[in-house]
Amino acid sequence: MSIKKEEMLKVLTTHPEYKDEYTEEISKNIDKLLIPINKIREMWGKPLIVTSGWRPKSYNKAIGGAKNSLHCLGMAVDFADPDGSFDAFLVELDKQGKLKELGLWLENPDATVGWTHLDIKHRGDRKSNVFKP
Ligand SMILES: [Zn+2]
Repeated sequence: MSIKKEEMLKVLTTHPEYKDEYTEEISKNIDKLLIPINKIREMWGKPLIVTSGWRPKSYNKAIGGAKNSLHCLGMAVDFADPDGSFDAFLVELDKQGKLKELGLWLENPDATVGWTHLDIKHRGDRKSNVFKP
């Protein structure tokens, strides 16, 4: 039950008017992101619901998303995490150095209550791959 590219591109189904903003570069970034994400998915062993994958720039602006959001580049994904257990699982993986190994970065769970944000933007060699927004 891996996470599929279509799940990252749901916005194209609900808002097909943004399809011109979907580029080759974004497509490649999503492919790159899905490799470590699906390794995490396998370790987690339970279903994950994508609440936000790729966001076209103008759509992101319309919904009041963060400027320069990595979602607009196809480099970030949000999952539903109603009880915080997925965030807690990822914090444990980070302590074991697994997020660094996979090149994944987790937004600090204190800032994402109810959901989880993961991305592949390299922020340098740090002790922890949990970052503050
Ligand atoms: Zn996000």
